[in-house]
Amino acid sequence: MKFETRAIHAGQPVDETTGAIAQPIHPSTTFSRAANADGEGFFYTRCGNPNRRALEQCVTSLEGGKDGAAFGSGMAAIMTALQALDPGDHVIAPDDLYFGVRNLHRELFTRWGLAVTTVDMTDLDAVAAAVRPDTKMIWTETPSNPLVKVTDIAAVSDIAARAGALCACDNTWATPVLQRPLELGCDLVMHSCTKYLGGHSDVLGGVLVSATDSEYFQRIRAIQEEGGAVPSPFDCWLILRGVQTLPLRVRAQCDNAAAVAAMLDDHPRVERVFYPGLPSDPGHGIAARQMDRFGAMLSFCVKGGEHEAMALANGLTLIPHATSLGGTHTLIEHRASVEGEASMAPDNLLRLSVGLEHPDDIIADLRQGLERVYQGGS
Ligand code: PLP
Repeated sequence: MKFETRAIHAGQPVDETTGAIAQPIHPSTTFSRAANADGEGFFYTRCGNPNRRALEQCVTSLEGGKDGAAFGSGMAAIMTALQALDPGDHVIAPDDLYFGVRNLHRELFTRWGLAVTTVDMTDLDAVAAAVRPDTKMIWTETPSNPLVKVTDIAAVSDIAARAGALCACDNTWATPVLQRPLELGCDLVMHSCTKYLGGHSDVLGGVLVSATDSEYFQRIRAIQEEGGAVPSPFDCWLILRGVQTLPLRVRAQCDNAAAVAAMLDDHPRVERVFYPGLPSDPGHGIAARQMDRFGAMLSFCVKGGEHEAMALANGLTLIPHATSLGGTHTLIEHRASVEGEASMAPDNLLRLSVGLEHPDDIIADLRQGLERVYQGGS
């Protein structure tokens, strides 16, 4: 079956008892022991639930994996991927990545005994040089948050394999519509379902998909079931409803982002645009190779500093200044002010999650905002 068909059908058969086309929601926390006599059914919702299983099966199918595990947030998924390593293990991570992960490394996992080295993942020599005998995982995030850097997934997976380490990819920004890291040699894919998979800014969730039924994935499953950081059945249902339209949404958002990036790239008040769809972007060549389209996330630096960037973010009429991404609404955010000291984001950088409004309206709002900020010239 093709990708679009699997987004609607994988893990989501017509309900046998009622014939319902839309998946029923199963809020039950417990299941009859008789129905689970062979151990293949459900028992207790922390350990497994029909809606969670449907979500796991569908995303696993879209990523081309062997099995998947869903969590209550993207961060719970990432935390589980790290907890499934051993204290004392070494992890290589990108210097530009979702700042929550950087905080997790610093505040939780260094205390737990995990050693983390950050490198510029676009510099393959630097990645190879960071490998140590105790390196157990190379974590990638591509395109990255917020500098939209593009990592060569196949090359980094190769470095990891030669080191006997796992390669994981946070595929939240690209989605499996545009990029399938397991096909490029990764062992594990992670998503914040809160973003494009859910797609409507109304549900939190996370998922890990493994290429194989490895011992490492068995650990992930055990942490999920025993630790219990699981999404509710309703949240799984909402995410899966979003996934059904994922291919259509993402492609339309890519079209809009390309138009917005071109306008910003041409605008006299914009210093620089970070978007791999622009031929001048350093990530363009690799993105063209490993992604089907260039995504709908971009960042840009305005001329001036934090004052001008904040004035623009707060002065738009259609686009809210708000965190998060991947939903139907276009959102803009000043990242340096939320990420704190370790942020890679310059003071004059704004991140844009391009939504599903008409591109003319998104562009008109950005244009009027830029004109307003620079009224009188600066
Ligand atoms: N990974 C990326 C790339 C993100 O942008 C985010 C959140 O913004 C996360 C992970 C964390 O996901 P969640 O907010 O669902 O915990």
